[in-house]
Amino acid sequence: MDPFDSNNTERANLPRNMIENSMFEEEPDVVDLAKDSTAFPTFPALDPDDVAYEPRSSRLLVRGLGENDMDEDEEDYESSARLLGMSFMNRSAAHRSNSSPYTRQAPPRSCSRPSARTMVVCGLFVVIMASMTMVLYFLPGCNFTKIGCRKTNKTTPFEQVYPVSTNGELFPWTKFRLPRSIHPLSYDLTLDPDLDNMTFTGRTVINMSVLHNTKLIVLHSANLNITKATFKLGDGEAKDVTVLEYKPRQQIAVKFSDELKTGQYCVLTLDYSAKLSHTYDGFYNSSYTDTDGIKRVLAATQFEPLAARKAFPCFDEPSFKATFLIRISRKPTYLTLSNMPQAKSTPLVNGLIQDEFEKTNVNMSTYLVAFIVANFTPVRKNVSETLVSVYSVPEKKEHTDYALDTVCKLLEFYNDFFEIAYPLKKLDLVAIPDFLAGAMENWGLITFRETTLLVGKQSSDLEKQVVASVIAHELAHQWFGNLVTMRWWNDLWLNEGFATYMQYMSLQTVLPKLDIGNLFLAVRFRALDKDALNSSHAVSTDVNKPEQVEEMFDSVSYEKGASILLMLNASLSGDQEFRKGIIQYLKQFSGLNTDTNDLWNSLTQVEVSPQHPNVSEMMSSWTSLKGFPLVTVSRKGGQVTLTQEHFLLTSDNATQTSSLWNIPVTYVTDNCSLAPECTQMFNLKNKSGTLKEIPESVKWLKLNYRNTGFYIVHYGDEGWAALIDALSNNVNVLTHEDRASLIHNIFALSRLGRVSFHQVLNLLKYMSNETQTSPVTEALLQLNVFYQLLDKRQEHNLAARMKSYILHQFGSLMDKQTWKEEESVSKQEMRSALLEMACSLYEEKCIQQAQAQFKQYVESNGTSRIPGDLQQVVFTVAAQSNEDWMTLLSMYEHATYDAEKRKMLRGLASTQDPRRIVWILKAGLRGDTIPTQELPLVIHTVCKGFAGYLFVWDFIQENWNSLIEKFPVGSFAMQTIIKSATSQYSTQAHLDQVQDFFSSLKERGSQMRSVQEALETIKLNQRWMDKNLPTLQKWL
Ligand SMILES: [Zn+2]
Repeated sequence: MDPFDSNNTERANLPRNMIENSMFEEEPDVVDLAKDSTAFPTFPALDPDDVAYEPRSSRLLVRGLGENDMDEDEEDYESSARLLGMSFMNRSAAHRSNSSPYTRQAPPRSCSRPSARTMVVCGLFVVIMASMTMVLYFLPGCNFTKIGCRKTNKTTPFEQVYPVSTNGELFPWTKFRLPRSIHPLSYDLTLDPDLDNMTFTGRTVINMSVLHNTKLIVLHSANLNITKATFKLGDGEAKDVTVLEYKPRQQIAVKFSDELKTGQYCVLTLDYSAKLSHTYDGFYNSSYTDTDGIKRVLAATQFEPLAARKAFPCFDEPSFKATFLIRISRKPTYLTLSNMPQAKSTPLVNGLIQDEFEKTNVNMSTYLVAFIVANFTPVRKNVSETLVSVYSVPEKKEHTDYALDTVCKLLEFYNDFFEIAYPLKKLDLVAIPDFLAGAMENWGLITFRETTLLVGKQSSDLEKQVVASVIAHELAHQWFGNLVTMRWWNDLWLNEGFATYMQYMSLQTVLPKLDIGNLFLAVRFRALDKDALNSSHAVSTDVNKPEQVEEMFDSVSYEKGASILLMLNASLSGDQEFRKGIIQYLKQFSGLNTDTNDLWNSLTQVEVSPQHPNVSEMMSSWTSLKGFPLVTVSRKGGQVTLTQEHFLLTSDNATQTSSLWNIPVTYVTDNCSLAPECTQMFNLKNKSGTLKEIPESVKWLKLNYRNTGFYIVHYGDEGWAALIDALSNNVNVLTHEDRASLIHNIFALSRLGRVSFHQVLNLLKYMSNETQTSPVTEALLQLNVFYQLLDKRQEHNLAARMKSYILHQFGSLMDKQTWKEEESVSKQEMRSALLEMACSLYEEKCIQQAQAQFKQYVESNGTSRIPGDLQQVVFTVAAQSNEDWMTLLSMYEHATYDAEKRKMLRGLASTQDPRRIVWILKAGLRGDTIPTQELPLVIHTVCKGFAGYLFVWDFIQENWNSLIEKFPVGSFAMQTIIKSATSQYSTQAHLDQVQDFFSSLKERGSQMRSVQEALETIKLNQRWMDKNLPTLQKWL
């Protein structure tokens, strides 16, 4: 999945720190949290009860943890639990030996060899116990059935807690993860959607095999009304069965009185009805207004990560792979699409047509299943053995050519690169009018936002870059994710880190004109920024709750994952080693599920060169540790020592970790600094290490050549001075990536308090001679962060001085920019960054030019054109005038090309007029004039303005319930919303407000990692301000 805004490098910086180290054995749903709260170090002092995903009131206790007082049914539960490996069976050995409910308690020692006195005492004890039992027995409401009283026996600290099903019976499964005793083999799905009434009915037939003896089948189902259920064992008769449902965990279960035996096959058939979802997941309805003004409805799916269960009952975890045969009925005016090619169409008696798709020829995880009912039109092409089609609503068919051309090139590239042909006969790419994520890699049926697939006839290469990137990402998933799938969401990075890495790698080869390198460099910087926070998490991290699954879709899984793969590739000998390793991995695990170690082992097998480190040994620190290292260089004559420590931005200076990474350090010197052959390697795996003797004549070293490593470097006062000196004489002594990396690193070190802001400004002095995109855009982005903080804190004097500093520093470069069509993508990137900055600082010439462009555009009635990379700045300037804002709104309402529409929307949202700000926020929430999928973008843009950021915080608090109804707690959309609203606060008052609000949410989102990140960021802002405000007066 592409979470969104692949072209927005500001998006990184989001947060965490929930359950860092609890294993599944310590499954929170089972442990009595009131007793075991220490197992869950969580965000600020919440009541341990609040940590549980489900409301505690929904649980009841099962009596009978000692075998003596267990009735027959309970023994059934116990045997099932034993067979299915319930959580308490998996607890740590220490727990098990002392406190397992299945360990019979030894009788009291004092009674084992009775003396006369102890016999009297014991006798008395028995009488007292008997009396107490009778009292309890006759207590009202305490009937000793399973739904009984809380057990008071303190000798069994881990009481099993079974929840209650919707029908009042106990639900026989207590864990978030499904039992492993039953494995689905194939699904036969029949769906009958009714787009007039926004409902659907379905029948799901699941063929399963029994892996371990069990009396239970547990699977997922959410918001489905199951009307009939039958079960058939082997060749036996199909019999009606009762389905128990436990809604908080979206699970259903069927219990059997006789055990299903290992090796048996069985079939569960479920009939159900449901409403089409009105959010963006499950089987959801979508609509658009066509050019004749007629509202058209359609239905599409988005299942990743946890929503297949909303469309059909299923084993909705990635490791339960199976085959799928899908049938969908439709009106004759619609078409249907699914993962596989259509096999046949059958007219039904009610006038509808039922389309049946071929059974999948691959085993698939449920989150990759997809189907669509719509009136789309395709363009098509054959590539190798695959029929490739791009679908859109009919009036946008002309915008699909670029996508078709690009996907065909990329498909050929990947077929060749992975040495495994794309396994399906067809590949559809579909632009869906309502779609929250950027795109979704469903096997054979990739779904997109219109913005990420459609390209207008006059689009700039910068817009094409977005579309090509998303296609390259989703297509890479057909191998990484679809063919080989992570076993569980804790290793989501195996999907997303790889797809992200492959997207940049493939485009550099297939479409070099798109100059994707600058974007990849920028996203690596943003990943470092986010990972520097204490709320970050290890790439591969525990996931035990639905919101934690959602939260895995963040820059650590995507961009950090991609960054460490780049680092690995750059550190291997020869340019084919990495490729050989991943081919081996894909071939070895084709059709299967893997975890991170499987990948490192495959790569280790290929890497045979003795002078290179063992891949597994090197990389495990990068996936198992949170954060990344700071490498500090100290030099005495020819001796250069490197030391490493955790680069951790904390507001309290308290948390220091002893983490050590295995760092493949690269470096260049002034003797040879530009070509790859200049690079020298040093493997820093201890706290410190010494490079081989450097000649005294060497003036400077630059580490992390082209920033391919995931670490930050501090050169010490002298080292920085030497680099600054070299750059002021000649900017070309380093590659542009190295220059950008110095800029990024020095700002980061300033935040860490290792260098003064004065040193930052010293480095930036060289920039009057800088002409390359990545150093310029990085410096502008970093300076803008501080300018925005000063502005929002109403430090008007300092903000004004920062503004004149920026305009002075970049003025001549800004002046050099033209407002005409520009060919080079890299120049477009730099121009748009410079001009957006100039106009946002009200630089007069910029404003005049932008206004003139808008006027000409409006007056020409659509015949003149604003260059694609300049549309944003032009629309943003226009939106500041009363009259032009109205014009822009009307243009927005009539525009059909989605990428342009989004720029207009960002313009509209940049208004400083409070009434309009309120209007646009509300419109985004309502979803009429502005689609709700755009609300995160609207909020992000509004927050940049001084007036807007104050409104947004109120808006979020007032509308929290509506927001989490539309965007799941923990989702990327919510991460964006929280970050946008809070990242510019820097005062105690704001910190208190934010803290109070999120604490009050409890299970409605208080535990989100983005909340922790927000609080941490405010504290860090506060600290930076306290430290630097007094001295900024002097430096600026
Ligand atoms: Zn993805």
